[in-house]
Amino acid sequence: MASHHGPQPTDHGPPFETVIGLEVHAQLRTASKAFSPDAAAFGAPPNTHVDPVSLGHPGTLPVFNAAVVRETLLLGLATKSAIARRSVLARKHYFYPDLPKGYQISQYETPILSGGHVTIRDEDSGETRAVALTRIHLEEDAGKLVHDLDPTATLVDHNRCGVPLLEIVSEPDLRTPREAALYLQEIRRLVRWLGICDGNMEEGSLRCDANVSVRRVGSDTLGTKTEVKNLNSIRGVERAIAYEAARQIALVERGEAVVQETRLWDADRAETRSMRSKEEAMDYRYVPDPDLPPVVVTDAVLAEARAAMPELPDARRMRYVDALGLPTYDAAVLTEERSLAEYFEATLTALNASPSADEAKAVSNVVMGDVLRTLNESQGTEQKLAVAVFPIEPARLAALVRMRLDDQLSSTAATEVFDAMLTDKAAPGVIAQVRDLLQVSDDDALVPVVEEILAANPKQVDAFRAGKQQVVGFFIGQVMRAFPGAPDPKRVRALLLERLAD
Ligand code: ADP
Ligand code: MG
Repeated sequence: MASHHGPQPTDHGPPFETVIGLEVHAQLRTASKAFSPDAAAFGAPPNTHVDPVSLGHPGTLPVFNAAVVRETLLLGLATKSAIARRSVLARKHYFYPDLPKGYQISQYETPILSGGHVTIRDEDSGETRAVALTRIHLEEDAGKLVHDLDPTATLVDHNRCGVPLLEIVSEPDLRTPREAALYLQEIRRLVRWLGICDGNMEEGSLRCDANVSVRRVGSDTLGTKTEVKNLNSIRGVERAIAYEAARQIALVERGEAVVQETRLWDADRAETRSMRSKEEAMDYRYVPDPDLPPVVVTDAVLAEARAAMPELPDARRMRYVDALGLPTYDAAVLTEERSLAEYFEATLTALNASPSADEAKAVSNVVMGDVLRTLNESQGTEQKLAVAVFPIEPARLAALVRMRLDDQLSSTAATEVFDAMLTDKAAPGVIAQVRDLLQVSDDDALVPVVEEILAANPKQVDAFRAGKQQVVGFFIGQVMRAFPGAPDPKRVRALLLERLAD
């Protein structure tokens, strides 16, 4: 029978699925480096945080920074990982100009954390899924090679040598580029929330390599994977995986084999290309570092980490929906960053210690509206604002929300007062008064104007009484215009309807 279904696939096997595992490197936010007192801060002039330990001078000895373990344990608890009470720091040898010691201190056989998971959520469908983590281990960062300052040379900046890193390795549990992006987003949110990494992918404090393979749906063996490097945005991760999966599917459909190799993502050309093959894979000759004792997590350190754990974003999101009655969308936006959630809650508490759903929604509206708008507009300006130091303190914002709830301000007037409060430290009531923005709902002031407008428009009054209800809008507009100051439209409407019904 002739087909009515358009072109038939040339390949009759089951469709393909993509299998993805991510390796994420997160730079910890400790003040000093993992094994030396050098500052770990980003952005210093090149080669200024370079003590002899960072440079691996002979005879220097590393001393492990205890803050690294404290920060690591927070992520371990947040991901419900198994915590190794004793784990080994090893030397991973390779030769490259960014690594003056000739080896990187890392963990190999015993990672400090293993077997946890990260829960991803698709905001569109509301579906959640746990992505299994193979391990999270400690390592130190290498230096940075700078290729674009001098066309004739590669420069080396050793500031980053020895900055503490966590390598977060997922199981091959992710199935679409979108899922991989959600997973990375969730990790970024989590490490920021815990305050252990600033999650800045452009600056490289959060980095990601993607392992990608394809297989026929229904198959339970893994295909040959490639590892894609040089991904420096979440969008880039998503695009690179999509490209790589399509490339591999095309190979398999042509009857060719996927070669196990490391590939580089080129964002400008939107393609991956081969960097090195499996044959060139290095033998790192891992050995336990003889200069470092094992990392020991005592009961006391673990108890301290448990006590320092903040309420996690998921728990907080659920509390906002269940206890405050907020829509799930609001709860998701407000818990995107811990500082935003704290600001929201401080404002809500200042408004009312046991708030109603309407009060919670009113605070959510102003935070998601005016506050986020202001923060976004400040991006890229000289004075980039952070919510933690937002110029409108929670108590003053609460006072503004209260005025709005009491119909003392229209929504446009509230925004005008809000904008003024960014630079004017006065209370919103004072600002509104000075600017003549207070809504008048006092009948003594409103009634004469209402009556004057009705008297001046007898034709419209007749039209209303003949059944043309929408004429009330015309009257409201006239009163609003004729009134000096800002009349409360709800009260004006009520007064008009009373008189029109007579
Ligand atoms: P390697 O030996 O190359 O380091 P690992 O087994 O340690 O590989 O895995 C490294 C990462 O690659 C992990 O995130 C893992 O989930 C992922 N991975 C392993 N095999 C595959 C595969 N066939 N397809 C996709 N990802 C994979
Ligand atoms: Mg590996």
